[in-house]
Amino acid sequence: MTDCLFCKISAGKMDTDFVYEDDKLVVFEDINPQAPVHLLIVPKKHIADLNNLEESENELIGHVYQVAKKMAAEKGIADSGYRLVSNCGDDGGQTVFHIHFHLLGGRTLQWPPG
Ligand code: C5P
Repeated sequence: MTDCLFCKISAGKMDTDFVYEDDKLVVFEDINPQAPVHLLIVPKKHIADLNNLEESENELIGHVYQVAKKMAAEKGIADSGYRLVSNCGDDGGQTVFHIHFHLLGGRTLQWPPG
């Protein structure tokens, strides 16, 4: 998708510093962090949101979780705890319609979310 921000970022066209990258996804710091650790895990494939996720992408999503675990360990929040969340749609608070996962930690997170 030529006009998708996260397609451009994940393709390396926006000069974003990646915390991690492989052939399937990129990880970078959220521009507006909501916690001391706030990373975005963004698949390179354009999938608009969770509603558009296909069964054939299950392996990709499993990989997202494995990378999240690795990032949490690298950021030193594996033991204290963290949250991995993907907002879907307007009521879910999604603002960028390219599926992504927020890895949040480094403070006690509230539940339920606002
Ligand atoms: O879940 P949602 O779609 O709202 O998340 C999008 C996230 O992308 C926001 O947390 C926002 O701060 C982040 N963002 C970013 N860099 C941009 C545009 C948005 O990190 N250039």
